[in-house]
Amino acid sequence: MSVIDLRSDTVTLPTTGMREAMARAELGDDVYGEDPTVNRLEATLAERLGFEAGLFVPTGTMSNLLGLMAHCGRGDEYIVGQQAHTYKYEGGGAAVLGSIQPQPIDGEADGSLDLAKVEAAIKQDDFHFARTRLLALENTMQGKVLPQSYLAAAREMTRRRGLGLHLDGARLYNAAVKLGVDAGEITRYFDSVSVCLSKGLGAPVGSVLCGSTELIGKARRLRKMVGGGMRQAGGLAAAGLYALDHQVERLAEDHVNAETLGRELAGLGYGIEPVQTNMVYVDIGAQASALGAFLGERGIRVSPAPRLRLVTHLDVKGTDIPHIVEAFAAFRRN
Ligand SMILES: *Cc1c(COP(=O)(O)O)cnc(C)c1O
Repeated sequence: MSVIDLRSDTVTLPTTGMREAMARAELGDDVYGEDPTVNRLEATLAERLGFEAGLFVPTGTMSNLLGLMAHCGRGDEYIVGQQAHTYKYEGGGAAVLGSIQPQPIDGEADGSLDLAKVEAAIKQDDFHFARTRLLALENTMQGKVLPQSYLAAAREMTRRRGLGLHLDGARLYNAAVKLGVDAGEITRYFDSVSVCLSKGLGAPVGSVLCGSTELIGKARRLRKMVGGGMRQAGGLAAAGLYALDHQVERLAEDHVNAETLGRELAGLGYGIEPVQTNMVYVDIGAQASALGAFLGERGIRVSPAPRLRLVTHLDVKGTDIPHIVEAFAAFRRN
């Protein structure tokens, strides 16, 4: 029985074309700056997103960490959402390794942070307080796309208040495809952006941090410090380049599949949050573990939770959706 894995868009396997691109990649020692494929990936993404420079790193967690540490020094502070990945799901790395104090604030229903609340959280210049240096946003945020007008307002406010603006763009391309804009139209509002190649884009490993030459220079030093300097990494970078050239537009299929799934499950009577990109949230409450086991017996993998997240991706086909819906229908009848 082939398994349909809805836990995350990280579970994809490299496509045949991607494996071929990886096998063909020209290699060199990237710590010496001599891997031509890594250099091409960094330059390509920086250019497409409107930045001076890029840095290839193993994970999105490291990319965000280096971004935060390049913006903030010891005893500085960044403002971030309570549910943001950098704050909640990265082991507290910015605090542990960067001595950066987070100032979390509650997020809004649309995935944004209320800019009036952000401004109110900025600390005065007073020796009692940490120095507020940065605002970090996430887009998409739990599958939701931040409005472009909101990004413009966040840009204006952070400029006015002397803060940097960082984007955790793990799913930047889902947002861009949903809006029908070039990803650069989103990243132009930010001072730095972390992009995951290993989520919906379908590469096995890797993220890229983009920013100014100065910021990326700092991040490159920090990458060495945290042990993230890789040698002949061009095979991995080739997967990223392949994803950027061949697997961006197809994210629209994941969005259609998620929308269909959400609509069908709502039709069965499940509580479904509005679907924007590749994530469907199901309010399943106390039945989470029973549902998880039931689906598992039918070849469908989920991470059971009261607010159940179903993620569509490269390895979930449109033809899988009826089977998933049927399993949810059978659970309800059960
Ligand atoms: C997955 C993810 C990351 C981190 O990526 P890893 O490669 O798993 O370390 C960062 N931010 C968001 C929003 C993510 O979904």
